[in-house]
Amino acid sequence: MTSTKRLLLPLSLALLALGARAQSEAPAACQDFYGHVNAAWLAQTELPASRSRTGSFDELARRNEAVLQAALASLSAQQAPTAGLRHAATVWASATDEAALERQGVAALAPLLQPIAALRTRDQLPALMAMLARAQVAAPIAIGVRPDPMDTRRYTLMLGQAGLTLPDRDDATGTDATAQRLREAARRYQAALLTAWQGQAPDAARLDALAAFEARLAQASTPRTQLRDPRANYHPHVAASLRAQAPELDWAALIQALKLPERAPARFVVGQPEFLAAVAREAANTELGVWRDYLAVRVLDAYAPGLNRAFQQAHFEYHGKTQRGLQAPAPRSERMVEAIGGRYGNAPLAQLLGEVFVQAAFPAEAAKRSAELVSDIKEAMRVRVRGLPWMSEATKQKALAKLDAMSLKIGAPARWPDYTGLVTRPDDLAGNLLRGAQWASAQRFNDLGRPVDRTRWFTSPHIVNAFAGGLNEITFPAGILQPPFFDAQADDASNFGGIGMVIGHEIIHHFDDRGRQFDGQGNLNDWWTPQDAAAYRERAAKVSALYGGVEALPGHRINGDLTLGENISDLGGLQIAFDALQRSLARHPAPPRADGRTPAQAFFVNQALVWRSKYRTEAMIQQLRTDSHSPPRYRVLIPMAHTEAFQKAFQCQAGDPMVAEARLTVW
Ligand SMILES: [Zn+2]
Repeated sequence: MTSTKRLLLPLSLALLALGARAQSEAPAACQDFYGHVNAAWLAQTELPASRSRTGSFDELARRNEAVLQAALASLSAQQAPTAGLRHAATVWASATDEAALERQGVAALAPLLQPIAALRTRDQLPALMAMLARAQVAAPIAIGVRPDPMDTRRYTLMLGQAGLTLPDRDDATGTDATAQRLREAARRYQAALLTAWQGQAPDAARLDALAAFEARLAQASTPRTQLRDPRANYHPHVAASLRAQAPELDWAALIQALKLPERAPARFVVGQPEFLAAVAREAANTELGVWRDYLAVRVLDAYAPGLNRAFQQAHFEYHGKTQRGLQAPAPRSERMVEAIGGRYGNAPLAQLLGEVFVQAAFPAEAAKRSAELVSDIKEAMRVRVRGLPWMSEATKQKALAKLDAMSLKIGAPARWPDYTGLVTRPDDLAGNLLRGAQWASAQRFNDLGRPVDRTRWFTSPHIVNAFAGGLNEITFPAGILQPPFFDAQADDASNFGGIGMVIGHEIIHHFDDRGRQFDGQGNLNDWWTPQDAAAYRERAAKVSALYGGVEALPGHRINGDLTLGENISDLGGLQIAFDALQRSLARHPAPPRADGRTPAQAFFVNQALVWRSKYRTEAMIQQLRTDSHSPPRYRVLIPMAHTEAFQKAFQCQAGDPMVAEARLTVW
């Protein structure tokens, strides 16, 4: 311990010196604003072996994590005052009981794995798929309940494509080095899971057959960019009509085995009919041994983080090392929080953690003031819509009505889920996760035939993120309402440049190329005149080309179509957050800042600080191939280069890299 400290001290001094030098040599604001603000941080920050990325979001997530862990450690299942806290204490106890994890192996998953091992006839397949769907294992069809995008007053069952071991459909056939590396790693992972399950390694022929099976599913999958088109991914069906299109599978038997409530409508929605048709063909033709391996791998992949060391190690090698470039696993306690809550806080039991977090550290002042920021930013959006030169009055009125109807969720839900029926045990983590998934599925299936509950949260409040949900709503969990996003001690300029920019981004999401297709109730309903829609598409195409021209890593460009919605939201979000800051300053003029920056400068500086980040190369490649967000550096550089207020604030001149030749605005 002491020797580590002795080693660390000179190292950190050296890093500080490095940072000071880097900052003194930082690029000028009008050359590279991201580097200008973050040079010292970029020089000083080392990516720990167990991280694929670090930055403001990640640092705050670590702080929330510490709060959560301390609160979980002091929680007692006997004394907890609510059902949620009792279950949280019990599930956390099971996550910390490593001996029990090792002892049990995959025993807790027997309710799923035994029926898979017993698969002998093809007519067993529909019920098996339904059983796995109830355990929230998409194998290979993702089955869930959501508000119907065509009528958000009611819930509908939705069936969509899923179930690939590879991160993207194109990885199954890609000839580039990354795709080949991923395929080899996926094969090793499948072998490791099957070995840990059966105590015997599968032979090459079995692995070949499994890879070929998944490659056929991949080929039948819709590419990621096309999944962004909500109309192209909406196909109402009943079991009989789906059977007419995909005759080899008994869809009625599958629906029956989901155990939906009596009142559930017969109609459901299929996302990608070609994929379901391919699944039906596989059900009729693929050897059942391949199906057994495939289904078991899907179960083990989904539950590996809650199983013993052999499974956790295999999961780390593939999901951590290969895909994100990690050199070491994250601390165990952190992995357990992720196993329970999921990375985006939407795992079945995530809100157990949210309740603990909110009890320990609800940022009440931040939630109240952020809600005030929301109304300023919405007002700035109103002004902007009214002034758009390319939009007709008729469409403007519809846009304003949608903006007025937008609802806000901030901090935490008003009430927690009803945990009736959930059974948790202090020595059975995998069992808790499985029963949690089954409990959550039963709750969602039970929604069918009932009116939509618009107060429900789809993410847990401990998460550092923000969301623009399908019901024309925007959500800001308690987890993000903290520095550097929101700081009660900071001035308006910093807060508008932090959480304000995030709020602006989420509002614009409901007006991005995808979001604009939905109305004020969140229904897929075209409210645009054909001319206005054409004018919008023309602008969107320019945004796509602009980002698509960026080579973020040698040989890896940003996918302009995949990231289009995020980029439109970044471009517009920055504008309306800045406009809103001006409104706020007009009401309460700001006293001069100690650092001598103008409010406008402080706004842009905090935005650049919020996005500072370091990535492992593997993680960046993965993001560029599969994620809808542009790399953080370009989320600063491009929107600012297209913002007149930025150029004024730092007196940038035409010809400077931070001044776009032709400024692009959508909103
Ligand atoms: Zn976004």
